[in-house]
Amino acid sequence: MTEKAFYVTTPIYYVNDVPHIGHAYTTVAGDVLTRWHRQRGERVWFLTGTDEHGEKILTAAAEHGMTPRQWTDHMVNTAWLPALQTIDVANDDFIRTTEARHEERVRDFWLALREKGEVYSGTYTGPYCVACEEFKQPSEIVDGNCPIHGRPVKEISEENYFFPLSKYADALLAHYEASPAFVEPESARNEVVSFVRGGLQDISMSRSSFDWGIKVPWDDKHVIYVWIDALQNYLNATGWPEPGWEERWPADVHLVGKDILRFHAVIWPAMLMAAGLPLPRKVFANGWLLVGGEKMSKTKLTGIAPSVITDVFGSDAYRYYFMRAIPFGQDGSFSWEDMHARYKSELSDQLGNLASRLLAMVERYRDGLLPPVASEPALESALATAAAEADERFCALDFQGGIGAVMGFVRAVNNYVTENEPWQLAKDPARSGDLDRVLYATAESLRAVAVLFNAVMPKACAALWSALGAEGDLAAQRVADVARWGQLPAGTKVAKGDGLFPRVETE
Ligand SMILES: [Zn+2]
Repeated sequence: MTEKAFYVTTPIYYVNDVPHIGHAYTTVAGDVLTRWHRQRGERVWFLTGTDEHGEKILTAAAEHGMTPRQWTDHMVNTAWLPALQTIDVANDDFIRTTEARHEERVRDFWLALREKGEVYSGTYTGPYCVACEEFKQPSEIVDGNCPIHGRPVKEISEENYFFPLSKYADALLAHYEASPAFVEPESARNEVVSFVRGGLQDISMSRSSFDWGIKVPWDDKHVIYVWIDALQNYLNATGWPEPGWEERWPADVHLVGKDILRFHAVIWPAMLMAAGLPLPRKVFANGWLLVGGEKMSKTKLTGIAPSVITDVFGSDAYRYYFMRAIPFGQDGSFSWEDMHARYKSELSDQLGNLASRLLAMVERYRDGLLPPVASEPALESALATAAAEADERFCALDFQGGIGAVMGFVRAVNNYVTENEPWQLAKDPARSGDLDRVLYATAESLRAVAVLFNAVMPKACAALWSALGAEGDLAAQRVADVARWGQLPAGTKVAKGDGLFPRVETE
């Protein structure tokens, strides 16, 4: 069997509306993580996609005078797929829950569970938030409203089929205990453990008051509850149960927003336990993006389309900013002022400036040709330290720490240039060898920075790689090899090119 791929998923996004920066945040995190692992030389598989069933889709389609099928096709093709381009995401697969490869496997899964006695019929009565597409506990309701959406919940009473979630409580608690890394960060893990300790209710796995969904295979008056349907995408996209699915499953990381943590860390593993299938290795909950103190949400008019930001700053700065500014797993605020300040002080003044200074000096003092390979022990050791730390942090989903390690090295190289004053060395023919050494060491440092930042800023790093005249495919450069000094050959032709992070107009 082939080596199992490092398999990362984003949530599949609900297509009742267009993407906002909260969706893009999770997707960028998955993309950075998977690009990093590819550069570690691992087989990687990165899945994203769309969730297309349920009452909320039916309503959105009707409001736009379309059938649900027309609506979901329209949203996927005009909004959700283009958003992946906007933020420069290199996903390996994109699954839609309306695809046959998904719907057929959902039916198989539930037929099998029913045969095992894992389904019973009953009546569900209680509150339901259509915006969440979630059955709520009466205790969660605040003044008749959903605690997340601040909108009224519906009281529903339906004949439904149930999944006996409650009987998995002990097995789930035992799993959280035995595998502490199963839910991260720790705050999310604590929340899940205390929720399950509080006792689980059986959950409805079908709905019978509308028909936009996957029909329950033994009763076509019911459709499968949209969340139960959606969760299974992660398994179905592996091709399960056809040969080869185990080369992907179990997922190594399910990235989720913290508001959908219970579905992924409680219901989904219980479903897999019931089916006798391996559990995912990690569910990582990121925090909310706040704008003006409120959760990013179209329903609250705080939704910002990613393109509004990338049109000004570009996709690299977008990716850098959200991974750098917010500790992954915690809530974070977005503001244009903070975005602009970091763009200028970190990307433009540090990385962009270092690259343009070096390229201009090689052009001016050495006719654009790199001097001979020269050792610079202080930088070599700083690079080895930064690369090791970045690897540890990125693999632990500490994107802020990983970027910080690389940016720390960029600052060290800038200080090195400032202290060595190559523009002074250039005035003294007797110090030509020193000038050669400073230019080479700076270029070689930037070669490493292009490799180490490629997962975060693939376009800028490709431009830097090419400006340095570096050979080979940047994405094929290995993290483990990045600190090996002297990879740029003497005499390499560098190109001045355009600045990596040009000044942006601010209003
Ligand atoms: Zn809600």
